Amino acid sequence: MSPRERADTPISGSPSTAQCPSHNARVPECDEERRKNEEKDEVREGKEKEEEDERSSDEGFMGMTPLLQAHHAMERMEEFVHKVWEGRWRVIPHDVLPDWLKDNDFLLHGHRPPMPSFRACFKSIFRIHTETGNIWTHLLGCLFFLCLGLMFMFRPNMSFVAPVQEKVVIGMFFLGAVLCLSFSWLFHTVYCHSEGVSRVFSKLDYSGIAFLIMGSFVPWLYYSFYCSPQPRFIYLIVVCILGLAAITVSQCDFFATPQYRGVRAGVFVGLGLSGVVPTLHFVISEGLIKATTMGQMGWLLLMATLYITGACLYAARIPERFFPGKCDIWFHSHQLFHILVVAGACVHFHGVSNLQEFRLKAGGGCTADGTL
Ligand SMILES: [Zn+2]
Repeated sequence: MSPRERADTPISGSPSTAQCPSHNARVPECDEERRKNEEKDEVREGKEKEEEDERSSDEGFMGMTPLLQAHHAMERMEEFVHKVWEGRWRVIPHDVLPDWLKDNDFLLHGHRPPMPSFRACFKSIFRIHTETGNIWTHLLGCLFFLCLGLMFMFRPNMSFVAPVQEKVVIGMFFLGAVLCLSFSWLFHTVYCHSEGVSRVFSKLDYSGIAFLIMGSFVPWLYYSFYCSPQPRFIYLIVVCILGLAAITVSQCDFFATPQYRGVRAGVFVGLGLSGVVPTLHFVISEGLIKATTMGQMGWLLLMATLYITGACLYAARIPERFFPGKCDIWFHSHQLFHILVVAGACVHFHGVSNLQEFRLKAGGGCTADGTL
């Protein structure tokens, strides 16, 4: 960070005057810097005087000291909030972040400082920093699935065998996708607000992933086991229980810590991989050829590959691990993971649409042996 950047960073202390010696007064930047320094000196002197007054008037009241400290802390916080409110903040390096904002030490620069103002957090969507890509990948993904979902809901009833039922079932996938992506971009937007806010939204973010996985299972199970309602119901119950278990574990504070990055990836990959059992059931009962043609197994495998690749990059922090400081703003693991999640959801929707089309062509009836 340059000395000028440091000067404008709300939390990073006093500005450097090393580049503006006294004989350089004619340089406009130096004039400006000197003026700022003088203003700051005045403010500092005033504050010191105030503090001294308060200290002397308070010396006799030993019990008041913590109160005074709280008062000064509040004042400093107000001053800082005012600066952030006006958008006067600069990105800061990883090593000066408070512990609760330190998540990935391979991203060396470009972090937002703590900004205890929602307005400032939302305005930061339009600034360049380590979270810009994370926010936009899922904000745009969220809008995309919202529009796609609405278009799907307004499709004419003649495109379905059982319009209401099918719209509800596929609507579950859209609900899961929109919840996951919106919780995610909201979390990345307000992540730097404060420790408490970051904790609440990280729990929502993780719960959103479970919603997406659960929502993805619903239409797939519905169409794949269209003529076998009993196993369909059992698999649906099992994935709901596993999803709720994942949501429950994401409510624990330790789950969001950097040390548990691998565990987090494992929990959600495990939840997704619980689909292996119904997949094998389908392949065994329908045969490999039917599974790949009518069952859309190819799209399902591609979706699983995208999600698992994303989770592995996320857990191993690739590529920034190999290029520390080079992927601070673009192409770091979390961003790639976000893109792969959106791609995986698109592939899943394509597979489900094909299943739905197949059902429309086949009609609502089932053969006596209960196959497709
Ligand atoms: Zn994320």
